[in-house]
Amino acid sequence: MAEAESVVVIGLGRFGSALALELMESGTEVLGIDGDEDIVQAHNGLLTHVVRADSTKEETLRQLSVSEFSSAVVAIGGDIQANILTASLLLKLGIPNIWAKAVSDPHGEILQQLGVSHVIYPEKDMGKRVAHLVRGVMQDYIEIGENFAVVKTTPPREIIGVPLGKARIRSNHGVTVTAFNRDGVWSYTTLETVIAATDIILIAGESKRVEAFSRLI
Ligand code: ATP
Repeated sequence: MAEAESVVVIGLGRFGSALALELMESGTEVLGIDGDEDIVQAHNGLLTHVVRADSTKEETLRQLSVSEFSSAVVAIGGDIQANILTASLLLKLGIPNIWAKAVSDPHGEILQQLGVSHVIYPEKDMGKRVAHLVRGVMQDYIEIGENFAVVKTTPPREIIGVPLGKARIRSNHGVTVTAFNRDGVWSYTTLETVIAATDIILIAGESKRVEAFSRLI
């Protein structure tokens, strides 16, 4: 099963499980590995393959042909030693894309120093994201990279009823309205799009500017 569209997810706690199920939903083949028998049972039939194994054992990973996967996710959180050992074994096996969950900044630094290509901080990132939602009127906030975000929000009065090509939103506010939702349907914007008061819009730009824009009434 180890093809381009196949991922091995190690640790099927809340994070690993949600990630593995979402990958399945999008048509990706998933090998789930967890050391807990009950967790493995609970995922039986939901993932392409699910096995009970200790991911800190090199021999086990070799027997499971983990080295043939192009992507692997280390979703073990509580046991930092198991997380680091697993990541280091995946590197040793030569898997090109390794994603590992870090529970703290020092933990993330160790993973980076090891050479893990993608270190993720689910709790920290979600906390930051919710902070933006709590502060403003945004319906969703996703930081794409350092200082750049995409936000789902209601349209401010000044852009309603004017074709976007004439609304000068980018020059006045430094953001771009990329899509809009009308009656439950999302569409791309064009220069001719006229936003209505009942629409929901998706804007992209520098984090501070999208936040300021979504605060306009
Ligand atoms: P959550 O995603 O629920 O927040 P967490 O960060 O609290 O999870 P844990 O519950 O410690 O992390 O680990 C996630 C899963 O990883 C658990 O189901 C656990 O059984 C599994 N796990 C931990 N160590 C190993 C290991 N060495 N080999 C395989 N699976 C492991």
